[in-house]
Amino acid sequence: MTDTQSNDETSPALRDDAPLPPGHPVRLAMARVLSDTLMLWRLCLSARCRRNGKCKGDPDACLDIGGALLSDDVFNGGVAFLEAKIDGLSFDEAWAQCPDEFAAFGEWARRIECNAARPR
Ligand SMILES: [Zn+2]
Repeated sequence: MTDTQSNDETSPALRDDAPLPPGHPVRLAMARVLSDTLMLWRLCLSARCRRNGKCKGDPDACLDIGGALLSDDVFNGGVAFLEAKIDGLSFDEAWAQCPDEFAAFGEWARRIECNAARPR
């Protein structure tokens, strides 16, 4: 192993402020949670995702394709929803931080949940 392959304390991938590299397990897990929060599996072309009711494929691809179909308010509302859960905020506290995005996300969730996905 060379020095460039080691993961010591100075490795950029381990710094708190450094973005995780593509394919990193934590990055994939975060993308999968966001994809599931936005219910992108209902729009996914993969029957496996629709059958399981959650992202079972490449979550980055789901976010790229499905996320492009959502308005910025809906997407940002989903991100804010997750951040609020991580921060342990109450619903009212979270709503107060970004009411427009939460309203857009809530409307999206209501509409997509009322529209049952059908296996292809
Ligand atoms: Zn999928």
